[in-house]
Amino acid sequence: MAESFVRGLKCRLCGTKYPKEPNNFCPEDFGPLEVDYDYDAIAAAISKEVLARRPATMWRYRELLPIDGDPTVGVQVGGTPLVAAPRLARALGLERVYIKNDAVNFPTLSFKDRVVSVALSKAKEFGFDVVGCASTGNLANSVAANAASAGLTAYIFIPANLELAKIVGTQVYGAHVVAIDGTYDQVNRLCTQVAFHYGWGFVNINLRAYYAEGSKSLAYEVAEALGWQLPDHVVVPMAGGSLICKVAKAFRELQQLGFVPAKSVKIHGAQPAGCCPIVRAVKEGTDEIRPVRKPNTIAKSLAIGDPADGYFAQGVIRESGGWAEDPTDAEIVAAMKLLAETEGIFTETAGGVTLAATQRLVASGRIRPDETVVVCITGNGLKTQDALMGVLEAPQVIRPSLDEFKKLIASEGHASPQAAEAVGSR
Ligand SMILES: *Cc1c(COP(=O)(O)O)cnc(C)c1O
Ligand SMILES: [Zn+2]
Repeated sequence: MAESFVRGLKCRLCGTKYPKEPNNFCPEDFGPLEVDYDYDAIAAAISKEVLARRPATMWRYRELLPIDGDPTVGVQVGGTPLVAAPRLARALGLERVYIKNDAVNFPTLSFKDRVVSVALSKAKEFGFDVVGCASTGNLANSVAANAASAGLTAYIFIPANLELAKIVGTQVYGAHVVAIDGTYDQVNRLCTQVAFHYGWGFVNINLRAYYAEGSKSLAYEVAEALGWQLPDHVVVPMAGGSLICKVAKAFRELQQLGFVPAKSVKIHGAQPAGCCPIVRAVKEGTDEIRPVRKPNTIAKSLAIGDPADGYFAQGVIRESGGWAEDPTDAEIVAAMKLLAETEGIFTETAGGVTLAATQRLVASGRIRPDETVVVCITGNGLKTQDALMGVLEAPQVIRPSLDEFKKLIASEGHASPQAAEAVGSR
């Protein structure tokens, strides 16, 4: 059995310590709880050399993840590519851009597989048989799939207006899917009641402290893939604001452990214009998050009007010297196409938000041409094809004849006749 380096839970507001339990808030001030590690013991237990010999999954960093035994759910999650993106960089007017491509995470093609593998491994340690979540889509997919493979019963609560692919990609795993006629915030409130009433393990409610730690693995992988260096900038999509906080925590931990040289990374947040409570706070210079009552955006996975970690997310951005941007739906779609056409990566709307925010950061001079940028692509475009309906032209249909094809080519003005002849005469 693997060793645990978790001391317990700690309130993020007042610092009061609590034992390892399925509980997500401090009864003193309702502050959210966070996992507290023994970093000296971790430093003594692992080194970069030890990590390098392990399989390329998120669990190679298991000492920095909050389970007591070995992982039992999602053992193959993570290890996604950090893609050098020179063609995208040129389009952006930058020298070095990398895509952290969690659109190909296993098994459900979003970064949520990281948080779910931790949350459900922990749920099994706590002895939960029934698990669940409130979700904007990707979490639903991941909880359903990972619960199925772990033999756990899953209750998944979603806003009823989600993309078809996200609903089908949840039901197929045999999960109980409950669609709510309401916003994510209303779904989330109901789930809090359900979790405590039935005593079930909701990954982003009573298991949230553990769940959230899974996001750190994305940032560890970025640093390791850069040869144990940190980038100048990282651009992170925000829904509840958890991922961005954990990227900051992971970079801090790696410096504390001496795995990377000390460096201040500018951490930038991205939300869609139709639901941008955290971005608005950053731009207005306040730490007060004003909830958005009715989100209206094609980036449904980011449509959380009252983000649980919004206060902390704006703090992380401000302290890092980063910024936040809120691109429009049109900018989101254009950025999805740009990423696909330059780098061959098809991201969902959330990735469009992140890339479009990056474009704004370059345009405003906050990212300079010679700086290294990591853009976090967190979900797969096949799940949000709705967003491209009516944007891409339907393909031309022709009869299966070379003459018809020649006519088509001529009308599009693509290939020169000489080139066509040369091929024909070979
Ligand atoms: C959930 C999600 C995020 C951000 O999640 P946080 O709640 O901010 O941690 C980003 N991208 C995608 C695709 C997501 O599904
Ligand atoms: Zn507290």
